[in-house]
Amino acid sequence: MNNSSDYHACPECDLLLKATLPDVGEKAHCPRCGLLLARPHKQSVERTFALSIAGIILFFPANLLPMVGITMMGNANTGILFSGVLALFNEGLQAVAVVVFLASILFPLVHISLSLLISGHLYFNLANRYLAHWMRWMHHLDEWVMLEVYMLSIIVACVKLMSIAQLKLGWGLYAFVALIVINTLLTSGLDEALFWQRIEQLRTRKSNAN
Ligand SMILES: [Zn+2]
Repeated sequence: MNNSSDYHACPECDLLLKATLPDVGEKAHCPRCGLLLARPHKQSVERTFALSIAGIILFFPANLLPMVGITMMGNANTGILFSGVLALFNEGLQAVAVVVFLASILFPLVHISLSLLISGHLYFNLANRYLAHWMRWMHHLDEWVMLEVYMLSIIVACVKLMSIAQLKLGWGLYAFVALIVINTLLTSGLDEALFWQRIEQLRTRKSNAN
């Protein structure tokens, strides 16, 4: 039997390599060009599981609590994350509003939920035939989660308003910043090779049990 899946090409120089995973703490480099191929992270499943739970919890205050309070000529106003999207929409920037909504609200929520689902299954050793699908969706969504972009626009708006209005930072903003940190840790600590290996193990174990 020709097991072509046992081999993969180096993304940099196309050298055909046998697919093996180094131990945690070790690195796998391409023998020809030296590209870092794999670096298993310590306790990636446990870390991802814990960070996903924290992310889901933080998602609610980040979205529901006021981010900034603006007092201008005696009028006080507070804005939550979604009111920024609504404001863009009402300003005639519908396309921008949709992008901001997707990149800073919907995609992050789906991304964190998927990572919670996947790492939860791996943590408790539960086989599920959708695990591979979830992994692929999460991988593609990764590029579309852009919380930092929204953060940047808040900073720009605040700097602009500072001279003409009184600003008060709200708990929603702090939760949002914490969410950005959690999300960054989540993406950088997630060891995809290890996750795929564990998914494969669960699948073979399940088919052997049947
Ligand atoms: Zn190479």
